[in-house]
Amino acid sequence: MQSPGTLYVVATPIGNLNDITQRALQILAEVDYIAAEDTRNAAKLLNHFTITTKCVAYHDHNEEQQSVNLIEMLKNGNQIALISDAGTPLINDPGYRIVALARQQGFKVVPVPGCSAVIAALSAAGIATDQFYFGGFLPAKKQARQNKISAIKESPATAVFYESRHRILACLDDLTAVLGDDHYLVIARELTKTYESFYAGSVAEVKALISGDANQQKGEFVIMLEGTKEVSDVDQKSLQLINKLLPYMPLKTAAGIAAETLGGKKNQLYKAALHLNKDSD
Ligand code: SAM
Repeated sequence: MQSPGTLYVVATPIGNLNDITQRALQILAEVDYIAAEDTRNAAKLLNHFTITTKCVAYHDHNEEQQSVNLIEMLKNGNQIALISDAGTPLINDPGYRIVALARQQGFKVVPVPGCSAVIAALSAAGIATDQFYFGGFLPAKKQARQNKISAIKESPATAVFYESRHRILACLDDLTAVLGDDHYLVIARELTKTYESFYAGSVAEVKALISGDANQQKGEFVIMLEGTKEVSDVDQKSLQLINKLLPYMPLKTAAGIAAETLGGKKNQLYKAALHLNKDSD
């Protein structure tokens, strides 16, 4: 009897072709078929590495039928590699259906790890990574986008979203509307490519950098939003100073003075003081 095939889930580069792994190249060359999100894009990658494995299309519009076909191919003993246009399949890319089906039916599913924009961005952003929430793409419509941003507002974890050049400015406006101009974030653009850039600062600062230069609005973006700090993380001395200043000025101004005097981030102090005042009401 024919032994069943294996489904390999293979990460490919997100810009710089040198980021492909040796193992990915070996598996792409050795399998019987490559299931690719876009066979023309796959051809560019495979030609570059002189890999001649036959490709079949597997994308959002044919995944139901194609999953059934791929399962048949696995049953017939074929080894299959799944790739997407860039990065890791299933991470905001097609693949979920075939991976779930292959597992349900007892086929071996093997990850071949490599690039993913979310991990590349977090690894070099200098923002907290001990815990993070990955929200995928923000919705295209303003209200839905603001709702999704609101949902992470109180979370202590860094929140990461993918965004396209079409909506980056609208998205920054929504961040102001929901989180305020002072919220700290890092945006990674065009990772591993020629114009790779990182923008870090308050929403207002990053917005000024990106909106002031049309070139900075081009390409692909990863948005990383700082989580809300627990009150206990914030310097108690700063909070005491804010409380002393509060009878004479608004909370925002007091937080600004405390941050300048004792160090720390104005928006964190502001939020922490807001929490304390709410709790003591
Ligand atoms: N599967 C991919 C991965 O593992 O990262 C993600 C594919 S998703 C369809 C495409 C989105 O990922 C882009 O709109 C952008 O937000 C992000 N992205 C992909 N490549 C990127 C890069 N080189 N630099 C910055 N963001 C990138």
